[in-house]
Amino acid sequence: MERNTRQRAAIRDAIAQAERPLLPQEVLDAAQQQVPGLGIATVYRNLKALVADGELNPVMLPGENPRFELAGHQHHHHFQCLQCQRVFDVHACPGDLSRLAPPGFSVEAHDLTLYGRCKDCAPPASRRRAPKAAPHKHAHTHD
Ligand SMILES: [Zn+2]
Ligand SMILES: [Zn+2]
Repeated sequence: MERNTRQRAAIRDAIAQAERPLLPQEVLDAAQQQVPGLGIATVYRNLKALVADGELNPVMLPGENPRFELAGHQHHHHFQCLQCQRVFDVHACPGDLSRLAPPGFSVEAHDLTLYGRCKDCAPPASRRRAPKAAPHKHAHTHD
């Protein structure tokens, strides 16, 4: 009983701390730090129970295994990195997309996933960094 509670807490904490939806394998890797010897079957069993109890929501992306995030998030979207395959939360929404529907159709919900490269995987040239001060001598500075 006590062991089960600890496993369950470690699994939930792993997802809470990641702040992004995790695959069962990612949950396992993170939760094992708290509960050595944790197995993937236990992770699956607890994920299922946490979803049933309304603590986690499954995140289903087309063609992907389910990931899991904490329940109770506001409406939001996801970004999947095409290089590392990780999924991140996107806390933005284009709003009402009714204008995209065919005439006469009524939109009740939408699902939106962005694909690209996360900041760890983006090539350095495309990283939006504040430009560094030019190292060369500045014409207006005199001693
Ligand atoms: Zn990435
Ligand atoms: Zn939205």
